[in-house]
Amino acid sequence: MTAQDLIARLKDVTPSSIKTKPFVDGKFVDPASDATFETIYPGTGTKIADIAACGQVDVDRAVASARKAFESGVWSRMAPADRKRILTRFSELMLEHRDELAGLETLNVGKPITRSRNGDIPSAAGCIAWYADAIDKVYGEVAETGPDVTTMVVREPLGVVAAVVPWNYPLSMACWKLGPALATGNSVILKPAEQSPFTALRIAELALEAGLPPGVLNVVPGLGEAAGKALGLHMDVDCVTFTGSTEVGKMFLEYSGQSNAKHVSLELGGKSPQIVLNDCDDLDGAARAIAAGIFSNSGQVCNAGSRLVVESGIKDALLERVVAIATDLKAGDPLDESTQLGSIVSEKQFERVMSYIDIGKSEGASVVAGGKAARPESGGFFIEPTVFDNVGNGMRIAQEEIFGPVLSAITVADFDEAVTVANDTIYGLSAAIWTRDIRKAHRAARAIRAGVVWVNCFDRGSMSAPFGGFKQSGFGRDKSLHAMDKYTDWKSIWIAH
Ligand code: NAD
Repeated sequence: MTAQDLIARLKDVTPSSIKTKPFVDGKFVDPASDATFETIYPGTGTKIADIAACGQVDVDRAVASARKAFESGVWSRMAPADRKRILTRFSELMLEHRDELAGLETLNVGKPITRSRNGDIPSAAGCIAWYADAIDKVYGEVAETGPDVTTMVVREPLGVVAAVVPWNYPLSMACWKLGPALATGNSVILKPAEQSPFTALRIAELALEAGLPPGVLNVVPGLGEAAGKALGLHMDVDCVTFTGSTEVGKMFLEYSGQSNAKHVSLELGGKSPQIVLNDCDDLDGAARAIAAGIFSNSGQVCNAGSRLVVESGIKDALLERVVAIATDLKAGDPLDESTQLGSIVSEKQFERVMSYIDIGKSEGASVVAGGKAARPESGGFFIEPTVFDNVGNGMRIAQEEIFGPVLSAITVADFDEAVTVANDTIYGLSAAIWTRDIRKAHRAARAIRAGVVWVNCFDRGSMSAPFGGFKQSGFGRDKSLHAMDKYTDWKSIWIAH
């Protein structure tokens, strides 16, 4: 199957939807070098396009454009009502181009087309609309400092923000950054992951069409160690907002220290526990949520509930239900409307997940569902939903982020052990507890060191609630009004009477 055949299957996607050059100063420009990288459709392993592998010179150009736009005040000092109108229009345009953007997203990362169309794209557009609405709801303070002086505490944009994002929810993760960064008046350089540049490049055009002034949003595709590093080390970037692995997140802290002490915020990995206690009285509901929590998006989710921490009294009954769901869930063609489980994003990630399945077996855990590649005839990268039983929390499959459809079930004797095991990880992104005992629910919610704790549910979310991690899952929050703190600084202005 050729790239043309694949594109022909996608509603509203044409070859011209696929942009391959950096978007700087309001237009697609020639990159400084001929270097490119390939994007591959992971559903069939077909090459789709060669994309400019931007380097230092391209990053310098994008930063210069962003700086010029910021200093000119064309956006940073635009009246809030006008900024709101433009961002609202931007969000509307994303929705008007929903089928095109959904097709581009699936072509890059192999998630089911219905998920892209009904989940990722509307949610990304909704995020932009939410921050557009918030623009004139967030303002400064007047401090009580004395009768002979008035002290205003005002919020100011940081300036030039670099947003470096991953491939698992390419457009949503980008918009979690773009929404609050643009709403607060910054100029942004977006660096999409090398696996998934299509939607980032396409929305740059839509933002311009909505009225965002040139230079306020630049998009620089490229490899992490080139374009990403150049942004991290740049002396004229004021802030890096990053979502990705803990390993690379730590590099951004180093880049900041080696350059201009730029602000850094990090949304990193996770190894989230789902605790189920003996008194859980809805094992079917819990099993459905546990399966969805690890198999959605083929497990390539930062807050995937990848550790099932279950009390021994209900372990067999619960696991039986989870295994039944896992076994029923079949990977399918991501472009097929009925597919629920898509592909893994790339061959490299496929091999990484398969290697963890081997590690789990060699560590002595038992595979009770899946464990193998799926749809090998497709040429793509698919893995069966996999469940390991008899996992010890010290095993690598319980401690390391696999980022694939692999659940590790750990049996515990009681509530205290469950909480200890839940916290016994370097990560702290999210956790869940399933119980009818309100005291245990409250105790666990406070005792677990994680940025989000769900009780008798999993993966509930809203733009109104912050999202982010404790411990090595990062710091700083996406979503909610709190995210605006990452892109602004407070200034105290003292006016003597
Ligand atoms: P990654 O860290 O490999 O890449 C993320 C981004 O960093 C990409 O744009 C990449 O090009 C860039 N990058 C890579 N190496 C770099 C370097 N040396 N210098 C500068 N930039 C570099 O992560 P990924 O594989 O794209 O995504 C998966 C990871 O993202 C998982 O660990 C997952 O948990 C995490 N994630 C976290 C959240 C969250 O909100 N906490 C959300 C989604 C994904």
